[in-house]
Amino acid sequence: MPSVAFYTLGCKVNFYDTEAIWQLFKNEGYEQVDFEATADVYLVNTCTVTNTGDKKSRQIIRRAVRRNPNAVIAVTGCYAQTSPAEIMAIPGVDLVIGTQDREKIISFVDQIHADRTPVNAVRNIMKTRQFEELDVPDFSERTRAFLKIQEGCNNFCTFCIIPWSRGLSRSREPQSVIEQAKQLVASGYKEIVLTGIHTGGYGDDMENYRLTDLLWDLDKVDGLERIRISSIEASQIDDAMIDVLKRSSKMCRHLHIPLQAGETSVLKRMRRKYTTEEFASKLQRIREAMPGVAITTDVIVGFPGETDEMFEEGYKFMEAVGFSEMHVFPYSKRTGTPAARMEDQVDEEVKNERVHKLIDLSEKMQLQYAQQYVGTVLDIIPERDYKGAPGTGLVMGYSDNYLQVVFDGDESLIGKLCRVKITEAGVNENRGQLIRVLDESGLNNFGHPEALRA
Ligand code: SF4
Repeated sequence: MPSVAFYTLGCKVNFYDTEAIWQLFKNEGYEQVDFEATADVYLVNTCTVTNTGDKKSRQIIRRAVRRNPNAVIAVTGCYAQTSPAEIMAIPGVDLVIGTQDREKIISFVDQIHADRTPVNAVRNIMKTRQFEELDVPDFSERTRAFLKIQEGCNNFCTFCIIPWSRGLSRSREPQSVIEQAKQLVASGYKEIVLTGIHTGGYGDDMENYRLTDLLWDLDKVDGLERIRISSIEASQIDDAMIDVLKRSSKMCRHLHIPLQAGETSVLKRMRRKYTTEEFASKLQRIREAMPGVAITTDVIVGFPGETDEMFEEGYKFMEAVGFSEMHVFPYSKRTGTPAARMEDQVDEEVKNERVHKLIDLSEKMQLQYAQQYVGTVLDIIPERDYKGAPGTGLVMGYSDNYLQVVFDGDESLIGKLCRVKITEAGVNENRGQLIRVLDESGLNNFGHPEALRA
C-alpha cells in the first residue's frame, strides 16, 4: 500500500483542504502515515499570511525532503500559489500546485513517480471563477463537521495577501452544499461549521441567492441540529441575516466578527468597510435579535500609524462593546501588500505591550461572559474525554454559544446532546453538572439562559 504524509500550516480552510486532498489519496488506496515517518508522498499545505508563514513553509518542505529523498514532495496552498518559483528552487521538490486544480494531484504524482520530472502546475488564480468542489465526508473530530462553502475574497484589505493567494470570491453551488450537509448528517454529525476564506461573502457571485438563503435551506435539513458560521464581516450583517439569527432555532448563538481595529482612522487605512460606530450598531442589533449571543473577534495591533492614543481609543471601544473572546495578533508585515509599504511602522516592543494589554482585556471579558451562565442550563455536545485522556470521569464539549464546558461523564456521551448545569466559570474552561442526556425530541431546544435558569 503506498503511503502519504501531510503537513498543514495556517488557517482552518487549509486544514479543510488537506482533509479533502487526503480523500483523493484514500480513494486511490493510499494509507496515511505520520509526517515524521517514511512516506512515498509528502504533501505540504503551505501558508503565506505573514512572511513567517513563508519561512516556516520552506522549513517544513526541506524537512520532508530530508526524511525521504526518494519520495514525491508535493507542495500546495497559499505560499505555493503566490511564489511557485521560490518553492521549485528548493532541491527535492517535485510538484507545486496552488490553491486550485487539486483534483489533479494524483495524476501528477503518478506521472512524477514514472518520469521524475518536476512539475509546476500553478495557474493564475485571479482568472478563476469556479468553486473547486472537494468533499470531506468525515473528520477526525466526531461531533463537528466543517463544510467549505466559499473560496477567495474581493476585499483587498491593505494588510492581507489572501486575495492574491486564493483569488476572488466564489461560492459553492447551494445544491451541492445541501447534499453535502445531508451526507454529513447521515454520517452522524449534529453540528456543521460553514467555512470559507470570506464565508459571509457567500452568494456575492450569484444572482438572487445569498448566505441567508443558504442558511434557511440548511435549516430545513432534517437531523441537522446546529449551524455555525466560521466568520462573518460586520458589513455583511443585514436585515435578512438578523431575521435568520432571530428565527432559525438551528443557528448557534455564536458569531465571529473580525473587528481588526477599534479606531476608525486605522480601519480606514486597513481598508475595512465600516466605522467603529457602524460596527457597534451591528453588534447591538445582533444582541437584540439573539439574546446571550457570544461574539468573538480578531484584532490586529500595531498597524502602521497606530499611535498610543489610537490604541487607547480602540481599547476603550472593545471594552465598551464587549466580546466573549478576542484573538489578538501583532501586525506583521506581509511583503506585496500596501500596508507593508506604509510609513510609521510600529516598533515591535510597542506592539508586544499592546498585545498583552488586549489579551488581558480578552481574558477579563471571557470570564465576564461565562459568569452570566453560572446556574443556567446549557446543551453541550461532548467532543472528547477531558484533556484527551480516557478514565478521568470527565468529558469536554461546547455549548451553542461556544462555552467550553467540562462535566462528569464518560466516552459513551461523546456526540450526544447533553443538558448540563453550569456550576463554575473560568477563562477558557467552565465546569458543569450533567442533568440528563436529551432524546431526539429535545435536540433542537438550545433555549436562552433566561428561559432555562434553574
Ligand atoms: S476580508 Fe480582508 S483580511 Fe479577510 S481575507 Fe479578505 S482581504 Fe484578507
